[in-house]
Amino acid sequence: MIDLKRKADCCGCGACVSACPKDAISLKYDEEGFLYPQTDRNLCVDCGLCNKVCPKENDYKRNQSYSYGFFAAYNKDKAQARDSSSGGIFSLLAEYIISQKGAVYGVELLDNFQLVHSRADSLEGYVKFRKSKYLQSNTNNVFRQVKEDLNKGLKVLFTGTPCQVAGLHSFLGKEYKNLYTCDVVCHGVPSKIVFDKYIEELNQKQRSKAVSACWRDKENGWYPNKVTVLFEDGSKKTTTSINNPYQAGFLHNLYLSPSCYVCNWAKLPRVGDISLADFWGYKGPLLEENENAGLSIVAISSDKGAELFAKCKDKISCHSVSEEEVKLRSRHIYKHPKAKIERTLFFRDFRKNGFHAVAEKYIYSKEYAPRRFLFRVIDKIVDILR
Ligand SMILES: Cc1cc2nc3c(=O)[nH]c(=O)nc-3n(C[C@H](O)[C@H](O)[C@H](O)COP(=O)(O)OP(=O)(O)OC[C@H]3O[C@@H](n4cnc5c(N)ncnc54)[C@H](O)[C@@H]3O)c2cc1C
Repeated sequence: MIDLKRKADCCGCGACVSACPKDAISLKYDEEGFLYPQTDRNLCVDCGLCNKVCPKENDYKRNQSYSYGFFAAYNKDKAQARDSSSGGIFSLLAEYIISQKGAVYGVELLDNFQLVHSRADSLEGYVKFRKSKYLQSNTNNVFRQVKEDLNKGLKVLFTGTPCQVAGLHSFLGKEYKNLYTCDVVCHGVPSKIVFDKYIEELNQKQRSKAVSACWRDKENGWYPNKVTVLFEDGSKKTTTSINNPYQAGFLHNLYLSPSCYVCNWAKLPRVGDISLADFWGYKGPLLEENENAGLSIVAISSDKGAELFAKCKDKISCHSVSEEEVKLRSRHIYKHPKAKIERTLFFRDFRKNGFHAVAEKYIYSKEYAPRRFLFRVIDKIVDILR
């Protein structure tokens, strides 16, 4: 049975949920808004399979390599690139797998801002996976479905955060020739409870009900990044990430899952066959022709990753880049986010005073700036001592 000593020891990947032969485990939100396994003791037979597949407990590592290289890349179909978070490379990988009559697994945003992993095997079906959704997705028992597809001989592309990709490989326990994994370079997953409160307060201000959100709105180009919330009455609110308090708090690492601050897979070589990241600050030859439609870093870490990328290459504009350049532009490709001393204070304050007032204090207010500075110094010292 899963017996969590520390919250940071679980990334909520759901490997245990899929492994349980009695369906005794499900992922449920804790009081901070992160998914953790909960076991129905009446169903559990203590077989220990949940512990056996846990990628955190077993410090899961995959035999990957640096030697396949890194690319700056974007999808030549500008409409697809615009409908994606960065360069739209995920769409090309998905379309290739579907053209081979395979199945694609990705993250879908449901009506009530719930995120789930689901399956698609058609060109219309996979589109819902496009765009980064800045919440934690529930994998339910999707790893089981992946295994069924693999055993039928289907080509499968699984996409998710690095911990979810590690969880899938750990659950499967062996390499499958027909499985391709793609991890999105991940800043961490933010709290669902904080998000829900942000939306609730926004609804009051807007006097309508938020029905959907786009964390990567490219209507007026990729950079600077914009977040748009859509309301029932047809209105919408668009802000840049920095001016959107929820996204800014996320970028300040204020309310990430405890396991993100000690992520085992925010490193090179990556755990997925292919990894995708935003290429912010790119200054190379693709800049002009890209016309601010969005650019990705593509990191390839295995033969299968190289093979899949090669299959899509004529639909991609790309050139190879150095590891140094990649590390400079995408910190989380090789480093997990830093823990924040203020996190505990934030949650305490948030429970009493709601989201916007507290976000203002912890992110923007001048009055609170000296304390923020002090926290930064303490964080730095803790970092050096670690
Ligand atoms: C929570 C999160 C944090 C990220 N942090 C960083 C970062 O710090 N630095 C960086 O360079 N890039 C980060 N990314 C990745 C980046 O935003 C793009 O997803 C990536 O560049 C792929 O872009 P694309 O245009 O090829 O794909 P898109 O067409 O936008 O496809 C998005 C892909 O992400 C998957 N996905 C969407 N939401 C989630 C989710 N919540 N959990 C798991 N998988 C999801 C989908 O299944 C799909 O495969 C993050 C993504 C997410 C979801």
